[in-house]
Amino acid sequence: MKQKILNMLKNGKDFISGEEISKEFHMTRAAIWKYINALKEDGYNIESVPSKGYKIISLPDILTLEEVEPYLDTSFIGRNIKYFDTIDSTNKKAKEIAFDENEGTVVISEEQTEGKGRLGRHWVSPKGKGIWMSIILKPKVDPIKVSKITLLGAAAVHKALKNMNIESQIKWPNDILIDGKKICGILTEMNCELNMINYVVMGIGINVNFNQEDIPVDLKDKAMSIKISKDIEINRKELLGNIINEFEKLYIDFRDKKTISKAIKVCRESSALIGKEVRIIKGEEETLGKVLDINEEGELVVEFQDGTVDNIYSGEVSVRGLNGYI
Ligand code: ADP
Repeated sequence: MKQKILNMLKNGKDFISGEEISKEFHMTRAAIWKYINALKEDGYNIESVPSKGYKIISLPDILTLEEVEPYLDTSFIGRNIKYFDTIDSTNKKAKEIAFDENEGTVVISEEQTEGKGRLGRHWVSPKGKGIWMSIILKPKVDPIKVSKITLLGAAAVHKALKNMNIESQIKWPNDILIDGKKICGILTEMNCELNMINYVVMGIGINVNFNQEDIPVDLKDKAMSIKISKDIEINRKELLGNIINEFEKLYIDFRDKKTISKAIKVCRESSALIGKEVRIIKGEEETLGKVLDINEEGELVVEFQDGTVDNIYSGEVSVRGLNGYI
Protein backbone atom coordinates (compact mmCIF):
# COMPACT_ATOMS: atom_id res chain seq x y z
CA MET A 1 0.00 0.00 0.00
CA LYS A 2 2.87 2.35 0.87
CA GLN A 3 4.16 1.73 -2.65
CA LYS A 4 0.77 2.52 -4.23
CA ILE A 5 0.47 5.80 -2.36
CA LEU A 6 4.03 6.66 -3.35
CA ASN A 7 3.23 6.02 -7.02
CA MET A 8 0.12 8.16 -6.81
CA LEU A 9 2.11 11.03 -5.30
CA LYS A 10 4.91 10.60 -7.87
CA ASN A 11 2.44 10.67 -10.76
CA GLY A 12 0.57 13.71 -9.47
CA LYS A 13 1.78 17.02 -10.88
CA ASP A 14 0.66 19.01 -7.87
CA PHE A 15 -0.79 18.37 -4.41
CA ILE A 16 -2.94 15.25 -4.05
CA SER A 17 -5.63 15.65 -1.45
CA GLY A 18 -6.18 13.23 1.38
CA GLU A 19 -9.71 12.78 0.03
CA GLU A 20 -8.44 11.59 -3.37
CA ILE A 21 -6.11 9.10 -1.73
CA SER A 22 -8.76 7.81 0.65
CA LYS A 23 -11.24 7.36 -2.22
CA GLU A 24 -8.71 5.56 -4.40
CA PHE A 25 -7.62 3.08 -1.74
CA HIS A 26 -10.66 3.05 0.54
CA MET A 27 -8.78 4.02 3.65
CA THR A 28 -9.17 6.45 6.51
CA ARG A 29 -7.25 9.72 6.79
CA ALA A 30 -5.45 8.30 9.81
CA ALA A 31 -4.23 5.34 7.76
CA ILE A 32 -2.99 7.64 5.00
CA TRP A 33 -1.14 9.72 7.58
CA LYS A 34 0.59 6.56 8.81
CA TYR A 35 1.81 5.66 5.31
CA ILE A 36 2.95 9.22 4.61
CA ASN A 37 5.00 9.14 7.80
CA ALA A 38 6.52 5.81 6.81
CA LEU A 39 7.52 7.29 3.43
CA LYS A 40 9.06 10.29 5.19
CA GLU A 41 11.05 7.86 7.31
CA ASP A 42 12.33 6.24 4.09
CA GLY A 43 13.71 9.63 3.09
CA TYR A 44 10.92 11.00 0.87
CA ASN A 45 10.49 14.70 1.47
CA ILE A 46 6.70 15.17 1.41
CA GLU A 47 5.03 18.48 2.00
CA SER A 48 1.58 18.39 3.61
CA VAL A 49 -0.71 21.40 3.55
CA PRO A 50 -4.05 20.95 5.37
CA SER A 51 -6.26 22.48 2.66
CA LYS A 52 -4.36 20.97 -0.32
CA GLY A 53 -3.02 17.56 0.62
CA TYR A 54 0.37 16.00 -0.07
CA LYS A 55 3.15 16.65 -2.54
CA ILE A 56 6.59 15.06 -3.02
CA ILE A 57 9.31 17.71 -2.82
CA SER A 58 12.33 15.46 -3.29
CA LEU A 59 13.19 11.81 -3.64
CA PRO A 60 15.72 10.06 -1.41
CA ASP A 61 19.15 9.04 -2.71
CA ILE A 62 18.50 5.32 -2.23
CA LEU A 63 18.83 2.39 -4.64
CA THR A 64 15.48 0.68 -4.11
CA LEU A 65 13.58 -0.80 -7.06
CA GLU A 66 11.09 2.10 -6.91
CA GLU A 67 13.87 4.64 -7.30
CA VAL A 68 15.95 2.77 -9.88
CA GLU A 69 13.11 1.48 -12.09
CA PRO A 70 12.56 4.78 -13.97
CA TYR A 71 16.13 4.43 -15.29
CA LEU A 72 15.80 0.81 -16.46
CA ASP A 73 15.02 -0.39 -19.96
CA THR A 74 15.84 -4.05 -19.38
CA SER A 75 13.66 -7.08 -19.81
CA PHE A 76 14.86 -9.09 -16.81
CA ILE A 77 18.01 -7.79 -15.15
CA GLY A 78 17.29 -5.46 -12.20
CA ARG A 79 13.53 -6.02 -12.36
CA ASN A 80 13.75 -7.66 -8.97
CA ILE A 81 15.95 -5.78 -6.49
CA LYS A 82 16.61 -7.13 -3.01
CA TYR A 83 17.48 -3.94 -1.19
CA PHE A 84 19.34 -3.61 2.12
CA ASP A 85 20.36 -0.63 4.16
CA THR A 86 23.32 -2.56 5.48
CA ILE A 87 24.61 -6.08 4.87
CA ASP A 88 27.81 -8.06 5.34
CA SER A 89 28.37 -8.70 1.62
CA THR A 90 26.02 -8.51 -1.36
CA ASN A 91 27.80 -11.45 -3.04
CA LYS A 92 27.31 -13.54 0.09
CA LYS A 93 23.59 -12.68 0.19
CA ALA A 94 23.19 -13.32 -3.53
CA LYS A 95 24.79 -16.77 -3.15
CA GLU A 96 22.42 -17.58 -0.28
CA ILE A 97 19.30 -16.78 -2.30
CA ALA A 98 20.47 -17.66 -5.82
CA PHE A 99 18.84 -21.10 -6.01
CA ASP A 100 15.43 -19.61 -5.20
CA GLU A 101 15.62 -16.46 -7.29
CA ASN A 102 15.18 -15.88 -11.00
CA GLU A 103 18.02 -14.88 -13.26
CA GLY A 104 18.50 -11.12 -13.20
CA THR A 105 17.70 -10.58 -9.53
CA VAL A 106 20.02 -7.95 -8.07
CA VAL A 107 21.09 -7.62 -4.44
CA ILE A 108 21.92 -4.04 -3.47
CA SER A 109 23.00 -2.59 -0.16
CA GLU A 110 23.75 0.97 0.88
CA GLU A 111 26.79 -0.35 2.76
CA GLN A 112 28.75 -3.58 3.15
CA THR A 113 30.43 -4.37 6.42
CA GLU A 114 32.43 -7.29 4.98
CA GLY A 115 32.67 -6.48 1.27
CA LYS A 116 35.04 -8.80 -0.57
CA GLY A 117 37.52 -8.43 -3.41
CA ARG A 118 39.25 -11.33 -5.12
CA LEU A 119 41.18 -13.87 -3.01
CA GLY A 120 39.10 -12.88 0.02
CA ARG A 121 40.54 -9.36 0.15
CA HIS A 122 38.53 -6.66 1.90
CA TRP A 123 36.48 -4.21 -0.17
CA VAL A 124 35.76 -0.82 1.42
CA SER A 125 32.02 0.00 1.00
CA PRO A 126 30.82 3.04 3.00
CA LYS A 127 27.14 3.87 3.40
CA GLY A 128 25.35 5.69 0.60
CA LYS A 129 28.61 6.60 -1.13
CA GLY A 130 28.85 3.85 -3.69
CA ILE A 131 27.02 1.18 -5.63
CA TRP A 132 27.42 -2.20 -3.95
CA MET A 133 25.53 -4.80 -5.90
CA SER A 134 25.48 -8.43 -7.02
CA ILE A 135 23.65 -9.76 -10.04
CA ILE A 136 22.36 -13.35 -10.04
CA LEU A 137 22.78 -15.09 -13.42
CA LYS A 138 22.02 -18.60 -14.65
CA PRO A 139 23.68 -18.95 -18.05
CA LYS A 140 23.54 -22.31 -19.78
CA VAL A 141 27.20 -22.34 -20.76
CA ASP A 142 30.24 -24.39 -19.88
CA PRO A 143 31.58 -23.40 -16.41
CA ILE A 144 34.94 -22.77 -18.08
CA LYS A 145 33.43 -19.77 -19.86
CA VAL A 146 32.26 -18.03 -16.69
CA SER A 147 35.28 -15.81 -16.17
CA LYS A 148 34.24 -14.03 -19.37
CA ILE A 149 31.21 -12.64 -17.56
CA THR A 150 33.60 -10.41 -15.60
CA LEU A 151 34.61 -8.76 -18.89
CA LEU A 152 30.95 -8.17 -19.74
CA GLY A 153 30.59 -6.43 -16.38
CA ALA A 154 33.71 -4.31 -16.91
CA ALA A 155 32.56 -3.27 -20.40
CA ALA A 156 29.08 -2.43 -19.08
CA VAL A 157 30.45 -0.20 -16.31
CA HIS A 158 32.76 1.55 -18.78
CA LYS A 159 29.93 2.14 -21.26
CA ALA A 160 27.57 3.35 -18.55
CA LEU A 161 30.13 5.90 -17.38
CA LYS A 162 30.67 6.98 -20.96
CA ASN A 163 26.91 7.52 -21.39
CA MET A 164 27.25 10.00 -18.52
CA ASN A 165 30.30 11.66 -20.14
CA ILE A 166 32.78 10.08 -17.74
CA GLU A 167 35.89 8.56 -19.31
CA SER A 168 37.46 5.50 -17.70
CA GLN A 169 39.89 2.70 -18.45
CA ILE A 170 39.49 -1.02 -17.98
CA LYS A 171 42.22 -2.86 -16.13
CA TRP A 172 41.80 -6.43 -17.28
CA PRO A 173 40.01 -8.39 -16.08
CA ASN A 174 38.02 -6.85 -13.26
CA ASP A 175 38.79 -3.23 -12.42
CA ILE A 176 37.75 0.14 -13.80
CA LEU A 177 40.13 3.05 -13.40
CA ILE A 178 39.85 6.81 -13.50
CA ASP A 179 43.05 8.88 -13.32
CA GLY A 180 44.97 5.58 -13.14
CA LYS A 181 43.26 4.57 -9.89
CA LYS A 182 40.56 2.05 -9.13
CA ILE A 183 36.95 3.28 -8.90
CA CYS A 184 35.33 -0.11 -9.47
CA GLY A 185 36.07 -3.75 -8.83
CA ILE A 186 34.19 -6.81 -10.04
CA LEU A 187 34.10 -10.18 -8.32
CA THR A 188 32.48 -13.06 -10.19
CA GLU A 189 31.72 -16.25 -8.30
CA MET A 190 29.90 -19.38 -9.36
CA ASN A 191 28.31 -22.56 -8.16
CA CYS A 192 28.48 -25.42 -10.65
CA GLU A 193 28.34 -29.14 -11.27
CA LEU A 194 30.88 -30.85 -13.50
CA ASN A 195 29.61 -29.30 -16.73
CA MET A 196 26.60 -27.28 -15.65
CA ILE A 197 26.32 -23.93 -13.94
CA ASN A 198 23.83 -23.65 -11.08
CA TYR A 199 24.33 -19.92 -10.75
CA VAL A 200 26.81 -17.10 -11.18
CA VAL A 201 26.97 -14.08 -8.90
CA MET A 202 28.64 -11.01 -10.32
CA GLY A 203 29.49 -8.46 -7.65
CA ILE A 204 30.17 -4.90 -8.75
CA GLY A 205 31.46 -2.30 -6.31
CA ILE A 206 31.79 1.32 -7.43
CA ASN A 207 33.24 4.25 -5.53
CA VAL A 208 30.73 6.87 -6.63
CA ASN A 209 30.40 9.78 -4.20
CA PHE A 210 33.34 9.15 -1.86
CA ASN A 211 35.06 12.23 -0.50
CA GLN A 212 38.83 12.12 0.10
CA GLU A 213 38.28 11.15 3.74
CA ASP A 214 36.22 8.10 2.72
CA ILE A 215 39.30 6.49 1.17
CA PRO A 216 41.42 4.72 3.79
CA VAL A 217 44.99 6.04 3.96
CA ASP A 218 46.53 2.76 2.80
CA LEU A 219 44.43 2.83 -0.40
CA LYS A 220 45.07 6.46 -1.35
CA ASP A 221 47.65 5.58 -3.99
CA LYS A 222 45.36 3.13 -5.80
CA ALA A 223 41.72 4.02 -5.06
CA MET A 224 39.70 6.92 -6.42
CA SER A 225 36.05 7.95 -6.61
CA ILE A 226 34.11 9.44 -9.49
CA LYS A 227 33.16 12.43 -7.34
CA ILE A 228 36.75 13.15 -6.32
CA SER A 229 37.94 12.91 -9.90
CA LYS A 230 35.16 14.93 -11.56
CA ASP A 231 34.34 17.22 -8.66
CA ILE A 232 30.61 16.57 -9.05
CA GLU A 233 28.07 14.56 -7.10
CA ILE A 234 26.93 11.67 -9.31
CA ASN A 235 23.31 10.48 -9.56
CA ARG A 236 23.75 6.89 -8.33
CA LYS A 237 20.32 5.80 -9.61
CA GLU A 238 21.12 6.96 -13.13
CA LEU A 239 24.53 5.29 -13.09
CA LEU A 240 23.11 2.05 -11.73
CA GLY A 241 20.31 2.04 -14.33
CA ASN A 242 22.84 2.62 -17.08
CA ILE A 243 25.09 -0.21 -15.90
CA ILE A 244 22.24 -2.69 -15.71
CA ASN A 245 20.95 -1.64 -19.17
CA GLU A 246 24.39 -1.97 -20.77
CA PHE A 247 25.07 -5.24 -19.00
CA GLU A 248 21.82 -6.86 -20.11
CA LYS A 249 22.58 -6.17 -23.79
CA LEU A 250 26.06 -7.71 -23.54
CA TYR A 251 24.82 -10.61 -21.45
CA ILE A 252 22.05 -11.54 -23.88
CA ASP A 253 24.67 -11.76 -26.67
CA PHE A 254 26.78 -14.02 -24.46
CA ARG A 255 23.88 -16.20 -23.34
CA ASP A 256 22.07 -16.58 -26.66
CA LYS A 257 24.72 -16.07 -29.32
CA LYS A 258 27.68 -17.25 -27.24
CA THR A 259 29.67 -14.18 -28.20
CA ILE A 260 31.53 -11.62 -26.10
CA SER A 261 33.09 -9.76 -29.00
CA LYS A 262 31.36 -6.43 -28.27
CA ALA A 263 32.66 -6.49 -24.71
CA ILE A 264 36.15 -7.48 -25.87
CA LYS A 265 36.19 -4.53 -28.25
CA VAL A 266 35.37 -2.16 -25.37
CA CYS A 267 37.94 -3.80 -23.08
CA ARG A 268 40.60 -3.49 -25.79
CA GLU A 269 39.85 0.07 -26.82
CA SER A 270 39.84 1.32 -23.26
CA SER A 271 42.50 -0.96 -21.85
CA ALA A 272 44.76 0.36 -19.10
CA LEU A 273 47.22 -2.48 -19.80
CA ILE A 274 47.77 -2.91 -23.54
CA GLY A 275 51.25 -1.69 -24.47
CA LYS A 276 52.40 -1.57 -20.84
CA GLU A 277 55.21 -3.37 -19.06
CA VAL A 278 53.63 -5.21 -16.14
CA ARG A 279 54.22 -7.64 -13.32
CA ILE A 280 52.01 -10.72 -13.37
CA ILE A 281 51.53 -12.05 -9.87
CA LYS A 282 50.34 -15.57 -9.22
CA GLY A 283 50.63 -16.59 -5.59
CA GLU A 284 54.29 -16.12 -4.65
CA GLU A 285 55.39 -16.06 -8.27
CA GLU A 286 55.99 -12.81 -10.13
CA THR A 287 56.92 -12.49 -13.81
CA LEU A 288 57.61 -9.45 -15.94
CA GLY A 289 56.18 -8.94 -19.39
CA LYS A 290 54.62 -6.59 -21.86
CA VAL A 291 50.87 -6.70 -22.55
CA LEU A 292 50.24 -7.06 -26.30
CA ASP A 293 46.48 -7.51 -26.53
CA ILE A 294 43.26 -9.01 -25.20
CA ASN A 295 42.29 -11.87 -27.51
CA GLU A 296 38.83 -12.94 -28.69
CA GLU A 297 38.61 -15.41 -25.80
CA GLY A 298 39.06 -12.54 -23.37
CA GLU A 299 42.55 -13.65 -22.36
CA LEU A 300 45.46 -11.27 -21.81
CA VAL A 301 48.21 -11.73 -24.42
CA VAL A 302 51.59 -11.14 -22.77
CA GLU A 303 55.11 -11.19 -24.17
CA PHE A 304 57.47 -12.32 -21.43
CA GLN A 305 61.06 -11.18 -21.01
CA ASP A 306 62.44 -14.35 -22.62
CA GLY A 307 60.46 -13.55 -25.76
CA THR A 308 57.74 -16.13 -25.30
CA VAL A 309 54.16 -15.02 -25.82
CA ASP A 310 51.41 -16.50 -23.70
CA ASN A 311 47.68 -16.04 -23.22
CA ILE A 312 46.73 -15.51 -19.62
CA TYR A 313 43.37 -16.71 -18.45
CA SER A 314 42.03 -14.39 -15.75
CA GLY A 315 41.87 -17.05 -13.02
CA GLU A 316 43.64 -15.83 -9.96
CA VAL A 317 46.40 -13.62 -11.31
CA SER A 318 46.88 -9.98 -10.36
CA VAL A 319 48.47 -7.54 -12.78
CA ARG A 320 50.47 -4.57 -11.52
CA GLY A 321 52.54 -1.76 -13.00
CA LEU A 322 56.33 -2.06 -12.72
CA ASN A 323 56.52 0.53 -9.95
CA GLY A 324 53.07 0.65 -8.47
CA TYR A 325 49.42 -0.12 -8.98
CA ILE A 326 49.54 0.50 -12.71
P1 ADP B 1 43.14 -6.45 -7.68
O1 ADP B 1 42.21 -6.65 -8.81
O2 ADP B 1 43.68 -5.05 -7.61
O3 ADP B 1 44.20 -7.49 -7.61
P2 ADP B 1 40.92 -7.14 -5.95
O4 ADP B 1 40.02 -7.19 -7.11
O5 ADP B 1 41.15 -8.39 -5.19
O6 ADP B 1 42.34 -6.53 -6.31
O7 ADP B 1 40.36 -6.04 -4.96
C1 ADP B 1 40.70 -5.99 -3.58
C2 ADP B 1 41.72 -4.93 -3.30
O8 ADP B 1 41.26 -3.64 -3.73
C3 ADP B 1 41.96 -4.73 -1.80
O9 ADP B 1 42.99 -5.55 -1.36
C4 ADP B 1 42.34 -3.27 -1.67
O10 ADP B 1 43.71 -3.08 -1.93
C5 ADP B 1 41.59 -2.61 -2.80
N1 ADP B 1 40.31 -1.97 -2.37
C6 ADP B 1 39.49 -2.28 -1.35
N2 ADP B 1 38.40 -1.51 -1.32
C7 ADP B 1 38.51 -0.68 -2.38
C8 ADP B 1 37.69 0.34 -2.91
N3 ADP B 1 36.52 0.70 -2.36
N4 ADP B 1 38.14 0.98 -4.01
C9 ADP B 1 39.30 0.66 -4.59
N5 ADP B 1 40.12 -0.30 -4.15
C10 ADP B 1 39.73 -0.98 -3.06
